[in-house]
Amino acid sequence: PEAGALVLDVRKARMEFGGLVAVNDISFQIHAGQIVGLIGPNGAGKSTTFNIITGVLPATRGEVMFRNENISGLPSRDIAKRGMARTFQHVKMIADMTVLENVALGAHTRGSKGVLPAMLRANRSEEKQLFREAQRQLERVGMGEYLHEQAGNLAMGPQRLMEIARALCADPTLLLLDEPAAGLRHKEKQALADVLRQLKNEGMSILLVEHDMDLVMQICDHLVVMEFGTLLTQGPPAQIQQDPKVRAAYLGT
Ligand code: ADP
Ligand code: MG
Repeated sequence: PEAGALVLDVRKARMEFGGLVAVNDISFQIHAGQIVGLIGPNGAGKSTTFNIITGVLPATRGEVMFRNENISGLPSRDIAKRGMARTFQHVKMIADMTVLENVALGAHTRGSKGVLPAMLRANRSEEKQLFREAQRQLERVGMGEYLHEQAGNLAMGPQRLMEIARALCADPTLLLLDEPAAGLRHKEKQALADVLRQLKNEGMSILLVEHDMDLVMQICDHLVVMEFGTLLTQGPPAQIQQDPKVRAAYLGT
């Protein structure tokens, strides 16, 4: 997409679980090259919103437009193929394999059904291609020195970067990150912030669910604040930080 083009348009997305309205008619947009932060207290509906967008859950009502196409109700595999990649709150890896192997395993090219089938079907040259792409994405996130380390030996920060490299192998337009800074030390957070800024400068759009307010304020272009399933407010970080409603609901001041 061109710089500034509309990438994601969430239109009155709603998710009900029985009588509980977990996401109450939420609307927001993400443009090319934007980092949008989705914040709010526990139980606000952030993960559910994430699951609606990625097709893990079908919305009760409302639409999700991705690159000008209505993707509501599509299976998550089809949505991924169109250029959406995500990381999970808990790092998924095979601890006794190398970092490169872990990322290559996840480097299922767009259009394939899954990781392992892609790997098992792959001939030598396709396998080489997977490893080349994995290495390229690991280098892109500053993990070039860790290629042959055992994944299980990595500290939390490099583990998160490994996850991001894996997501990048799908060549996404939109990257969704679920609390990538959870459990990171200050220096690791800064390294993560640098990587996300660099991706943004390359034109990537990012949706970030994150509790770390320092990180969110530093790198986000736009914040969407949820509370009890509803959209409390949205806007630029500087404005959100001053908003009395947000301070009361979330920052506790
Ligand atoms: P957050 O990610 O902001 O902490 P969630 O989206 O996980 O919030 O949850 C929002 C609300 O929806 C919570 O009250 C939660 O208990 C409820 N909820 C989430 N997923 C389910 C589910 N699969 N079934 C029933 N209730 C759910
Ligand atoms: Mg959550």
